Amino acid sequence: YGARRGIRGNFIPPIKSNGNSGGNVTSRIAGKGEDALDDSTKKCLELLCGPDGELPEKLRNLEPRLIEHVSNEIMDRDPNVRWDDIAGLEHAKKCVTEMVIWPLLRPDIFKGCRSPGRGLLLFGPPGTGKTMIGKAIAGEAKATFFYISASSLTSKWIGEGEKLVRALFGVASCRQPAVIFVDEIDSLLSQRKSEGEHESSRRLKTQFLIEMEGFDCGSEQILLVGATNRPQELDEAARRRLTKRLYIPLPSSEARAWIVQNLLEKDGLLELSREDIDIICKLTEGYSGSDMKNLVKDASMGPLREALTQGFEITKLKKEDMRPVTVKDFENALQEVRPSVSLNELGIYEEWNKQFGSLS
Ligand code: ADP
Repeated sequence: YGARRGIRGNFIPPIKSNGNSGGNVTSRIAGKGEDALDDSTKKCLELLCGPDGELPEKLRNLEPRLIEHVSNEIMDRDPNVRWDDIAGLEHAKKCVTEMVIWPLLRPDIFKGCRSPGRGLLLFGPPGTGKTMIGKAIAGEAKATFFYISASSLTSKWIGEGEKLVRALFGVASCRQPAVIFVDEIDSLLSQRKSEGEHESSRRLKTQFLIEMEGFDCGSEQILLVGATNRPQELDEAARRRLTKRLYIPLPSSEARAWIVQNLLEKDGLLELSREDIDIICKLTEGYSGSDMKNLVKDASMGPLREALTQGFEITKLKKEDMRPVTVKDFENALQEVRPSVSLNELGIYEEWNKQFGSLS
């Protein structure tokens, strides 16, 4: 999931870790003595200390290894996505800019009547750019980005999810402005009350809602962005907290053209005419952004496969030995890469959007 800089990368301790102040800080957390912590955990905690060398109140009772996990694996200091990298979705970009980016950049203006909601839901078919939007929000608002998949909280962190959620919100509050992106949020805030619903997953959900409530009331600059392909599974409590709900639909024909052009151009492979691109767009009705990416990948293999069947050896093959990528390569790729979203599913999103979406 993208390139994350480890905490060890460019470490500059904010305090002297000579045992005078840092030592006191680490020894007070979760009852662990400083000796019990390894160097990377200590460094990570030191990075979160305030100018006084003290660990913020919120983090003191949390387990150091969870704080370290959030800092190293969930926090992404350089999300590296900008609006210009996202094809189409002009409407969503405009709404998000007004609803979240401006308030994150100018909290002094966006208060009182103008105070923004702290929860945004992006819903729609898979592979349409929801994660990209989350990253772009952080990039454009110069905020720290935290990414977590809710299903990993319920599956991988069995029994510990609750603690990890506390660590996540705790670290985010030390790294404001912050964007917490929760992928597959339906698996955390689902309305299903199956008999099998474990006590632990109920507690996890409660903890999550409490944390959201906490920063919603305060003056914290934390935005929660939830993404889901199954908005209909969200319960009323979840909808209430995710005040803005934006439909992220399949890409339009122009957006598909943009994706094809952009991906080929990046690799110096774009030799298709406008007419060629139009043909490809007509053939890819119903394809998601991620389907388009897979299609381009497959089509770009066409010239390579052909050169190899003509007798070129892979070890000696030069760029010039390969012909340009053509519409025919896309037609072949269309046999391999099928659209991942069905018409039926689209109807469900549109229905839900009519009923609960913020802006149509
Ligand atoms: P989602 O979170 O909606 O499931 P992602 O944002 O993870 O989808 O998109 C998956 C990949 O598909 C992206 O990394 C990108 O390459 C491509 N993609 C999807 N939507 C777009 C878009 N609107 N513009 C450009 N690329 C896109």
